[in-house]
Amino acid sequence: MINISSRIIYNNKMDKNKQNKVVPNSHPSGGVGGSYTKSIAAFSEAQKHIPGGVNSPVRSFKNVNATPPFIASASGSKVTDIDGNTYIDYVGSWGPMLLGHTHPDVVKAISETAALGASFGAPTLLETEMALQIKKMVPSIDSVRMVNSGTEATMSAVRLARGYTKRDLIIKFEGCYHGHHDSFLIKAGSGALTLGQPNSPGVTKGIAAGTLTAKYNDIETVKQLFEKHSEEIAAVILEPVTGNMGVILPSKEFITGIRELCTQHGTVLIFDEVMTGFRLAKGGAQEILGVTPDLTTLGKIIGGGLPVGAYGGKQEIMDHLAPKGPVYQAGTLSGNPLAMAAGLTTLKLLDETEGFYEQLEEKSARLEKGLKKALVDNNVPGVITRIGSMFTLFFTKEDKVESFDDVCKCDTEFFAKYFKIALDSGIYMAPSQFEAGFVSIAHSNEDIDLTIEAANAAFKRLKD
Ligand SMILES: *Cc1c(COP(=O)(O)O)cnc(C)c1O
Repeated sequence: MINISSRIIYNNKMDKNKQNKVVPNSHPSGGVGGSYTKSIAAFSEAQKHIPGGVNSPVRSFKNVNATPPFIASASGSKVTDIDGNTYIDYVGSWGPMLLGHTHPDVVKAISETAALGASFGAPTLLETEMALQIKKMVPSIDSVRMVNSGTEATMSAVRLARGYTKRDLIIKFEGCYHGHHDSFLIKAGSGALTLGQPNSPGVTKGIAAGTLTAKYNDIETVKQLFEKHSEEIAAVILEPVTGNMGVILPSKEFITGIRELCTQHGTVLIFDEVMTGFRLAKGGAQEILGVTPDLTTLGKIIGGGLPVGAYGGKQEIMDHLAPKGPVYQAGTLSGNPLAMAAGLTTLKLLDETEGFYEQLEEKSARLEKGLKKALVDNNVPGVITRIGSMFTLFFTKEDKVESFDDVCKCDTEFFAKYFKIALDSGIYMAPSQFEAGFVSIAHSNEDIDLTIEAANAAFKRLKD
C-alpha cells in the first residue's frame, strides 16, 4: 500500500561517506527507519559481481546518491520491491510499458509463444505480421528490419546511411542519446551526461572524428556544418522530440529546417523514435510534427518489455541492406518469436483501442496541471515540459527549457532531494534530472492525484 503521508523522514544531513555502504535500517534514498534492508543487502552483493551492481548505469541511482530498490514484480501502474514496498511507477522500464506492467494480453502472448519454441533462427510468420503492423502505424516506413535493442537500431541505421550515400560523416545533437554505440558517445546525453562522461574512454579518435555535433533547436549550427562539409554528410540523426536530456520540443523552424537541409544535400534524415515511437501517437513524433524522415529507428514499446529494436524507411535505402544489397547487418536472435509476440500484441492494442491516445493525454495533462500548481503554490522555481505521456519536471529559475544549455542550468541537487522524498512516499521516478517521466494507460486518476499530493508535501518539506 502506498502511504503518501510519507512513512519515512528524510534526513538530508546524512553522512555522504555512508552512501556506498550497507547501513542497517536505512532507506536506500538516504532517509532513515524504513524497511529497505533487503534492497540494501542485495545492492551490496550485486556490486561484488556486476560492475557497479547494475547492467545499465542509470539504474544505480548514482546521480542522486542513493541505493536503488530491487524490484520483485510489477502490475499496471505499480512496481513492488523485494522489501514489499510498492511505488507508482513513472519509469515504465524506461519507456516500453505504455500499457502498464503485466498487461494480461501481453503475458498471454509471451507464454503461448514460448510453448511453441523460444527461437529458431529461421523465418516465422510473426515477423511479417510485425513488419505489416509497423508499416501501418508509421507510413514513412516501406520496409523494416528487426534488431534486439535501440542501440542496434541506430548503429545499423547510420551504417546503412553511410553505405547508401557513400559518405562518412554524421551529425548528431548535443544532449540527444542514441544508445551506446561508439559513433554516438560524443557528448551524449542521459546516462553519459549525468555521469559526467561526455566522451567515453574506449571510443577511438578516428570514430569520434566521424561524428559532428550541433545544437538542438539551433538550425544555424546545422547550417554551418553543412556549409563546411556539404557533400560529406551521410546522415543527420536526432530525437525529433528529446527525452534523454529531459523532454524538449523542437521548434518548427528547427525541425523543418533540418528536413530541408537533408533534402538539399542528399543526406539521410534519421528520426530516432526509440522513445517517441508509438508513445506520442500511433505514428510517433513524425506524425505529430508533420515532418517525414528517410529512416526511423524504433525500440522500447515495440518490444512490449522484451529486448527489441527496429529500423526502417524508404524502400530505395532499405534495399541496400544484405542479403538484397551490400550493407551488412545481422542478428542471431533478431525477430525472436517471444519478442515479436509481446511487441505485436502491444502495437495492436495501441492501434485498435478506441481513444487510447486521448485517454493518455487526459491523464498526462492532469499530472502536468497538478505538478505546475504544486510548484507555484510552494514557490519552487521549475518548468514542466510535456508532450503526450512524456514529461520532465525541470528545477530551474529560467522560464523555459528549450535547449541543452537551458537543461544544464537546472538545480540537480534540489532534484536529488525531491527525488528521494518522492521515492520515500511511494513515487518511483527516473533517478536523474535529465530524463523523461512516462505516464502509462494503467495510471489511474487516483495514482496521479497521489503523485501530485506527494510533490506538494515534498516541496513544502524542502522549503523548511
Ligand atoms: C533508449 C534509447 C536508445 C537506446 O536503446 P537501447 O534499447 O537502450 O539500446 C536510443 N535512442 C533513444 C532515443 C532512446 O531513448
